[in-house]
Amino acid sequence: MRVAVFSTKPYDRQFLSAANKAFGHELVFFEPRLTRETCRLAEGFPAVCVFVNDELDAYVLLCLAKNGTKLVALRCAGFNNVDLRAAEELELTVTRVPAYSPQAVAEHTVALILALGRKLHKAYNRVREGNFALDGLLGFDLHRQTVGIIGTGKIGVCVAQALRGFGCRLLGYDPHPNSELEKLGLRYVPLPELFAESDIISLHCPLVPETWHLINEEAIAQMKRGVMIINTSRGALIDTRAAIRALKSGKIGAMGLDVYEEEADLFYENLSDQVIQDDTFARMLTFPNVIVTAHQAFFTRGAMEAIAQETLANISAFERGQQPPGLITTAWLRPATTTTS
Ligand code: NAD
Repeated sequence: MRVAVFSTKPYDRQFLSAANKAFGHELVFFEPRLTRETCRLAEGFPAVCVFVNDELDAYVLLCLAKNGTKLVALRCAGFNNVDLRAAEELELTVTRVPAYSPQAVAEHTVALILALGRKLHKAYNRVREGNFALDGLLGFDLHRQTVGIIGTGKIGVCVAQALRGFGCRLLGYDPHPNSELEKLGLRYVPLPELFAESDIISLHCPLVPETWHLINEEAIAQMKRGVMIINTSRGALIDTRAAIRALKSGKIGAMGLDVYEEEADLFYENLSDQVIQDDTFARMLTFPNVIVTAHQAFFTRGAMEAIAQETLANISAFERGQQPPGLITTAWLRPATTTTS
């Protein structure tokens, strides 16, 4: 099948081309993101392959459908960037890769917790400059910390299992509790209780209307002073301006972000010779107790191989007229059944 691959980086080309030897699709790689301005590049392609910051609103989907596209194959798990209702109306099939490596994201989450807890980002720079003093590097034991996990799906489970190994006390919040985690010792509690009792809060729920700015002024007010917040899920789960105010006052003691609500204009590009125009993001980077990574939690060799394999398998199934394993339907838009990543 002819596939227009958007947001292509060298590593996408490498892993997709290698996996495609077993599938034989005609992959045409485009560097730009799919947006209203670039959607005409897909003219005549029955399938497009997209990533987390491609824009699949009703306008772009209409443009794709008019130009002959039938399949939108996401090479990621989350699908918050797709207007699923518009896709359904236009009879566009949408697929994703639901579980390529939840461990990859979970391990990055734990890496952020450990790096912030032991101030590794500061220690690394200090030692390289010949400064071997320890002042300001005092950390805390992760053992016996209370960690609140919001969203205990595939990634949340892996995070819980890893943190259990560190001897953490685990709290969870999820509309669909997982009894296996309860056996592991995680206690499901209402959100206000999770906010009030957690030393560390880690976000692993999808971005849907009811989780937009879940961590806002009101939520932060209920938290312990000095709380650590980790977000490896989706940027808009956090009201960034409210978080900045709380970092300035000390209410939030540390923050680890792999995602940011306005990341589409920043992440995945080398902007090192430019002035960052987003003042909110630039302010976030100034805090000594904040670590930001550019949406890389998924980025391991194993995960990239699995993403390529599963994406191409979805395309092949669609081409054969079968139901792709990663099919997304609008039924998932109902809050009680939402599943994403
Ligand atoms: P999943 O679907 O397996 O789990 C999501 C869980 O969130 C489910 O258990 C669901 O019941 C729960 N949930 C739904 N609504 C909720 C709410 N209002 N409050 C609390 N919990 C709620 O998804 P996953 O594979 O574990 O992925 C989780 C998130 O991680 C995804 O939404 C995705 O955006 C993000 N992700 C990030 C990266 C990265 O590189 N940073 C990579 C993959 C996924």
